[in-house]
Amino acid sequence: MTRVALLGATGSIGRQAIEIVEANAGLELVAAASGSEPIDGLAPLTQVGGDLTDLLDRAEPDIVLNAVLGFAGLPATLWALERGVTLALANKESLVAGGELVLAAQERGGGLLLPVDSEHSALFQCLDGRRAEEVDSLVLTASGGPFRGRKRGELADVTPEQALEHPTWRMGRKITVDSATLANKGLELIEAHFLFGVPFEKIDVVIHPSSVVHGVARFRDGAALAHLGHPDMRVPISFALTYPARAATPVPRLELAGTTLEFEAPDLETFPLLRLARDAGERGGTFPCVFNAANEVAVEAFLDGRLSFLGIADAVDEALAASDGAPARDLSELVEADTAARTVAEGVSA
Ligand code: MG
Repeated sequence: MTRVALLGATGSIGRQAIEIVEANAGLELVAAASGSEPIDGLAPLTQVGGDLTDLLDRAEPDIVLNAVLGFAGLPATLWALERGVTLALANKESLVAGGELVLAAQERGGGLLLPVDSEHSALFQCLDGRRAEEVDSLVLTASGGPFRGRKRGELADVTPEQALEHPTWRMGRKITVDSATLANKGLELIEAHFLFGVPFEKIDVVIHPSSVVHGVARFRDGAALAHLGHPDMRVPISFALTYPARAATPVPRLELAGTTLEFEAPDLETFPLLRLARDAGERGGTFPCVFNAANEVAVEAFLDGRLSFLGIADAVDEALAASDGAPARDLSELVEADTAARTVAEGVSA
C-alpha cells in the first residue's frame, strides 16, 4: 500500500488525484490539505491552511503529491526531498523559485522527484534516465492559449473571462491565465532546466495548438522521441502516483487516423513573458524566484480587474529590473527575494 499525502486537495489537480487514488487499490490517501476550503473527512488527517510540513510529519507518507498553488508550496517540496520521500510535483513554482535549494535537498535526501506537469512527465518518460551527454535538446509544447495568433495591440483590452477560456486544457485559474500569457511555458522552461539538468539554450518551446504532443526529447544520434496523448492531467497524475508501473485510467486511447499535428514558433513580441522567463532562468540566482513572485501577484491583480493583461508582463519586467538576483543560501533568503518582488509588482498593479 502506497501512503499518499495530497497537498492542494480542492484544486483541479487535487480533485483528479482523488479520482486516481480511489480507482487504485494500491494507493491510500493518508493526509490531505487545502488552502482555505473545508475538507473534513477527505482523509484520516486533514489540514486547512497553515504549515503543511506539520501535517506531513504526522502523516508519514510514502509519496507527497504537491499541488499547492504558487511559491507557498516550497516548504513541502523541501520536506519530501530532504527525507527521501517521493515527491510528485505539480507545484512547478517551488522548483522554479527555489531550484538550487530544491536540488540540494534532493541530493541530501535522495528523494525521487516525479514531475506531474504534463510536459515534464512526458519528457521524463522520453528521457527514461538517459545520460545528459546522450541528449541533444528538449522541446516543450505549448497550446498557445486563447490568444494565439493575436498581435500585441489586440490584447490591450482582453478580460479575465476571455483569458480563462483555454482551448485544450481544463485547469485552475492561475495556470490558465499563465497559459494565455505564455508565462506558464516560461515557468516550465525553468522547471525543465532544473529537473533534467539541460542548459536553457538546449530547451526549445514550440506552439502546438491541439496539445496532443506533450514533449519531445532529441538525442545525439538523430532520434527524437515524442510523448503523445489526449490533454488530460489524469495521465501524468496516475503516472507519478503509480510509478514505475502504469496503472489503467479512464482516459480514452489516442486514435491517430484523423489526428493532425501542427507546430509553429512562439510570438515573443506579443507574449514577452516567455522571453522574460528565459532571461531570468539564464541569469540564475534569485531571478527565477523574482519572475515567479511578480507573476503571481500580477495575475491575481489581473483577475481582480486591477491590472490589464499586458500589464502582467510590465509588472514582471519591473520586478526583475529592481532585483539584483543574488543567490539565496537558504529558504529565508529566498522568501526575502520573493517578498521584495511581490512589493514591486503590487506597486505596478495598484
Ligand atoms: Mg504544463
